Amino acid sequence: MTYFKEFELKTQLIQSITELGFENPTPIQEETIPFVLSSKQDLIGLAQTGTGKTAAFGLPVLNNVDLKNNKTQALMLSPTRELCMQIYNDLLDYSKYLEGIKIVVCYGGASIETQIRNLRAGAHIIVATPGRMHDLLRRKAADISNIEYLVLDEADEMLNMGFRDELDDILQFAPQERQTLLFSATMPKEVASLAQIYLSEPVEISVGKKNSGATNVEHDYYLVNEKQRYEAMRRVVDFYPSMYSIVFCRTRQDCQNIATKLINDGYPADALHGDLSQAQRDYAMGRFRSRAIRILVATDVAARGIDVDSLTHVINYNLPDDYDIYLHRSGRTGRAGNEGVSVALINVRERYKIKHLEKRVGKSFVQKQIPTGEEICKSSVTNYMNLVADSSIVDEQIDFLFTMDIKRLRDMDKEELINRFLSVHFNQVFEAYRNVPDLNVKDVSEKSKEKKEARKAKQGFTRMFINVGRIDGFDKQLLIDFVRDIAQQRDVEVIEITIRERFSIFSYPNRDIANLKKSASRISIDSRDLRIDEMDRDDGKRGGGESSKGGKSYNKERKSNKRNSRDRDRNYRRERGKSNRDFEGGEGNSRKSRKKR
Ligand code: AMP
Repeated sequence: MTYFKEFELKTQLIQSITELGFENPTPIQEETIPFVLSSKQDLIGLAQTGTGKTAAFGLPVLNNVDLKNNKTQALMLSPTRELCMQIYNDLLDYSKYLEGIKIVVCYGGASIETQIRNLRAGAHIIVATPGRMHDLLRRKAADISNIEYLVLDEADEMLNMGFRDELDDILQFAPQERQTLLFSATMPKEVASLAQIYLSEPVEISVGKKNSGATNVEHDYYLVNEKQRYEAMRRVVDFYPSMYSIVFCRTRQDCQNIATKLINDGYPADALHGDLSQAQRDYAMGRFRSRAIRILVATDVAARGIDVDSLTHVINYNLPDDYDIYLHRSGRTGRAGNEGVSVALINVRERYKIKHLEKRVGKSFVQKQIPTGEEICKSSVTNYMNLVADSSIVDEQIDFLFTMDIKRLRDMDKEELINRFLSVHFNQVFEAYRNVPDLNVKDVSEKSKEKKEARKAKQGFTRMFINVGRIDGFDKQLLIDFVRDIAQQRDVEVIEITIRERFSIFSYPNRDIANLKKSASRISIDSRDLRIDEMDRDDGKRGGGESSKGGKSYNKERKSNKRNSRDRDRNYRRERGKSNRDFEGGEGNSRKSRKKR
């Protein structure tokens, strides 16, 4: 195990990070810090947020800044204001004991004059968004012509946000002789091409598996009906009463709509997206950090700068199109040694994506059932009871309660008291979830299993095979009529019908099978014998037993009859038309005309 003390970092830096509780470097730090301390070569660091990459580049850069030189020696570019603030604050923490260090942060949406004044006062390190940096350089308010370090943080996101032009322009102001450190969670071809142009012979450092997910994150998914996506999410939220989470949506509009719905439904939620003003975003972030709100509904870009390590969940309201984005999202939880859960709500058509995601994340995903009303009520009460049981009582604070008139309660026994307290507390939840439907979507395999079960359960019926199918013009109703017609029983139950191209299957009452087969043996359709047989119940094969025509295989017969199929279709329909009156009560039977007798 490596310790920070083993790195050749200034004692002032070791002191501050020790105070922050950093003892052992994270994997990206273990590789990056000694490399930057000892080499001038460019570097590509493949690491997600949460891996400790800010300290990975921040500590060696801080270490190497010449405090006696007032010129700007490092420029750190990051895509959003929030990320810049995060880097800036981290650098301030790390450099607490570095006397005279000047770090300036510049981003859009804030007074440029103040930033210009700050820069004029001197900046060893500038942390900036590309747009604002570009602006400042054009105004000649910043000078990066002497920088030794250029850090491009979240390079993939900077390009996603369309900062390529600004980056190109900014780099015109930077010297060729510099060390460039590019960090990116993913390496799409745009980032690779950026690296090719602006980095020379970089070494690549990646944390563990490229693009792999954090280890202490569980990945759950819920199969939802598209129309019930929101309701399903509410249930998941309600099931985890101490949830502290970000809900990720695809668009700003979705984000706002869902946040508004949650707020209207009484949840401590808010939205964070690019359509909000900076002040609104700051307000939402502040409330989220202080836990005044516990659900932040955010777009991917806006969520980049959220420096909260204690999220219990992230919820993918929709799966992103890019699997790397899923990695980013899920990496927002399970940080700083905490456990986290990444929840995905998917519809049946999206199910295939889970396999891809499992590959990308390197972990199995767990399919969870959308909680039922009862489960939610139980979980709410259990959570509350645990809170009550674990709460510590401060005697002095509640002494006054006993001087109050609580006589009415005193007369109640313990059980009644508990019941009443729970009712007061949970009436709303109980009401909201009384008799609510099951929102779980049955997938195909489950459905067919159920059908099979239902079939097995249907006592007194047998699965039957009949050698007419879609090609003969049959649909379900026509087959029912046909079978009843053959059996000469208008009300006999013909159920669980499957029409295939050249044959059909149905369930028929055991007591009447002999009669049905006997009648069928006397019928032909065009030149073909009609055949009805029992099937083996479980494997779907035809049964041996009493075949109406024994011996000849259906396939052989199918071949011999292929030619006539269209005619048969027409014939049966014609015939069926003629026989309507028979179904309506007459005793005449058009099939009789076909009887072979
Ligand atoms: P980052 O990936 O830079 O956003 O860092 C994620 C979180 O991990 C931040 O809250 C850091 O303060 C924390 N952190 C970074 N390096 C270490 C370390 N070596 N030991 C403990 N915590 C760390």
